[in-house]
Amino acid sequence: MTQKIAILPGDGIGPEIVAEAVKVMNFLNNEGTLKLEMEHAPVGGAGYDAAGEPLPAATLKLAKQADAILLGAVGGPKYDTLPREKRPEKGLLGLRSELTLFSNLRPAILYPQLAEASSLKHDLVAGLDIMIVRELTGGIYFGKPRAIEQRNGERYGYNTMCYGESEIERIARSAFEIAMKRNKKLCSVDKANVLEVSELWRDVVTRVAKDYPAVQLSHMYVDNAAMQLVKWPKQFDVMVTENMFGDILSDAAAMLTGSIGMLPSASLDANGKGMYEPIHGSAPDIAGKGIANPLATILSVAMMLRYSLNQESAARRIEAAVGIVLDKGLRTPDIMSEGCKKIGTAEMGDAVVKALQN
Ligand code: NAD
Repeated sequence: MTQKIAILPGDGIGPEIVAEAVKVMNFLNNEGTLKLEMEHAPVGGAGYDAAGEPLPAATLKLAKQADAILLGAVGGPKYDTLPREKRPEKGLLGLRSELTLFSNLRPAILYPQLAEASSLKHDLVAGLDIMIVRELTGGIYFGKPRAIEQRNGERYGYNTMCYGESEIERIARSAFEIAMKRNKKLCSVDKANVLEVSELWRDVVTRVAKDYPAVQLSHMYVDNAAMQLVKWPKQFDVMVTENMFGDILSDAAAMLTGSIGMLPSASLDANGKGMYEPIHGSAPDIAGKGIANPLATILSVAMMLRYSLNQESAARRIEAAVGIVLDKGLRTPDIMSEGCKKIGTAEMGDAVVKALQN
């Protein structure tokens, strides 16, 4: 059965890194392992340039029709002065909310070959493998009321952190399901000592836990979670948290690995349809130079095969191929270390394809 993939390269290094991921998918297509039909569309700044909108109607239509979406990154200085609703990130937020992609999976895995890249001591991070499940379509980023307004002669800004029980329940279930496939340990992160919305969060997560007796559930305040992530990150298996806490914690967890160019992510709906993208941005400082690391995007394809397309063995092959390339000492500049061979974006994509061939 043919599976349709919407390819949204976006801005900056997006088109360069996505091209390498497409190379990998083409290879798996050509050898007969996969039957992927890929269609490209602009999003973010590229969407604005092409159609005056960060999420053009045709792009949204394609994303809705597809079985999965592969996205590069959006944003760049050229678009920073646009009105808020035209900015590139609106394209991303629009895709997430239009497709109800409420469950954001952010793995923080440290490849043993890259252990030196972490700013933490080797024994703290060697073999690190955490999955952060972040709620993506609710909380303070979307809550209303929100505004900047005049009151008594000065400006006030405010936002609302708000969750309904059903929203908490579906993200909790998503996290428990993932924990079941891993080491069956789930830590739910909140701020229940201060926030009512967190009190409700904790209550609902505890209730859902009854359906997953095999999973060991713990609760942690977000400030402590930030501390523990840096102190002893290997205590965690799966973490689940609301949108803004997850935004911050998943970036901290990513940096434990020291290599932003290596980390993929997935955003899923209730049926497993998802959008897959590297966690990094559009890196305008290196765009067009052919030196961006495409591995996070290639590993996003592996996640796509696993979580949306039911192609676990192909997913594992891609992950193994990345391991082989690193074993060979091939490195883009961002992960370069002594004794290794520095290569560019396209060479890295070629190396992964070659490792798949063998
Ligand atoms: P960034 O992730 O783009 O870059 C941070 C640093 O990491 C830069 O030095 C960059 O060169 C480097 N880097 C990032 N990805 C790399 C890769 N694959 N290979 C090698 N080096 C890499 O973050 P930023 O500089 O804060 O943001 C740049 C733009 O990206 C902004 O417009 C921002 O809004 C946007 N952004 C988009 C997303 C997204 O599309 N999901 C996420 C974050 C930031």
